[in-house]
Order: sequence, then C-alpha cells, then structure tokens
Amino acid sequence: MEPIIKTENIKVIYNRGQDNEYIALNDISIEVFPEEYSIFFGPSGCGKSTLLYTILGLQKISEGKLYIKGRESSSFSEADRSNLDAQFFGIVFQYFNLVYSLNVIDNIALPQVFLETEKEVRLAKAKVLLARFGIETRARNLPASLSGGQQQRVAICRALVNDPLVLLADEPVGNLDSESARVVMESIYDIN
Ligand code: ADP
Ligand code: MG
Repeated sequence: MEPIIKTENIKVIYNRGQDNEYIALNDISIEVFPEEYSIFFGPSGCGKSTLLYTILGLQKISEGKLYIKGRESSSFSEADRSNLDAQFFGIVFQYFNLVYSLNVIDNIALPQVFLETEKEVRLAKAKVLLARFGIETRARNLPASLSGGQQQRVAICRALVNDPLVLLADEPVGNLDSESARVVMESIYDIN
C-alpha cells in the first residue's frame, strides 16, 4: 500500500542565512498510511506544529521532499494545492479558531460555503455531524456559550464537513481539562 503522506529527509530552517537561523526540523522521514491513526509526541518547541504546517503546504521545505498520495508536492500547481486544502485535509487547532459571531451550525457548515454547496445541503451535513458528536442541542448557540470541550468538538465537526481524507490536529486537547480532553480524544479515535 502507498503512504498517503510521506516525508523524505525533510529539513525546515527558519530565518535561513540570518543570525537567528534555526533548524526546526532536521532530517525527518515519516510515512502515514490510509486509515492510520498517528500521534507525534514531544516537548514544546520540538517541531510538531512545523511538521503539520509543512504537510499542509503552509511551511516551505528547506531540504527534502514531501509526497501527498505519491505525488511530490513541488509538482502541485496553485489550483492543486487549494483543492487539497479544501478536500484532502481537515484541520483542528489547539485554540478552536471558531468564528465567534456565527452560531455553532453555521461555523460547522462554513467550509462548505467555499465549495458552493447549497444551503440546505450544508446545514443538513452539519446537523449530522453535530448529532454524531452529541452537541445537536447547541446548534443555534454562539460558540462562546459552550464549554471548551464542546467548542473543540464543533471545531472537529467543521474540520470534517468537507469529508477530508486526512484529519490533522495540532494539540487538539492542549487547552482542555482532563475530562474534556478524554471525550475529544475518544471522538477523534472513533471517527478514525
Ligand atoms: P512545537 O509545535 O513542537 O511546540 P514548533 O514547530 O512550533 O514546535 O517550533 C519548533 C521550533 O521552531 C521552536 O524552537 C520555535 O521557537 C521555532 N519556530 C517556530 N516558528 C518559527 C518562526 N516562524 N520563526 C523562527 N522560529 C520559529
Ligand atoms: Mg505546536
């Protein structure tokens, strides 16, 4: 089977050639296969976020290669890249990054707006996800009225609404109490 994500001897250097040059990733080779559930552990500053942003194509690679579904990433056009971002990866961040002026269901449906999905269809998809994560009664509430664990489940629903092949999460429970963290990690494990 072919890895869905592969990095080959990746090096990421911040501020290359300047006094504050910093090697954040040094010779990193990983393979992630379809349906695999992978966790990267390491102390703060070891390069976990840098690796995720590199996989997403948001961080420039200094040396080495990234392959997405067997295709070398430097061969992607702008259009390939933005298609990937919309339908290949779902992303969850430590600090939820919800839109606080939109209610829960509109937050979840938002990525579908950019795919020009009809309103009824996108709200229906959002509703299914809300139920899946046990927060359907909060659909019309603003995110600020939800607990941290509930907000992170909203963020996970939003990351899943475009049916991505891969869900990336950057310290998704780093900002939660231990009980909420357990529920959120179980949710991620379940959907995998
Ligand atoms: P982690 O997510 O594991 O805490 P990061 O990937 O955020 O680690 O950071 C790895 C290292 O790179 C850290 O030492 C951090 O200070 C440094 N770093 C991160 N972003 C930048 C940047 N934009 N410019 C310079 N150094 C950075
Ligand atoms: Mg980080």
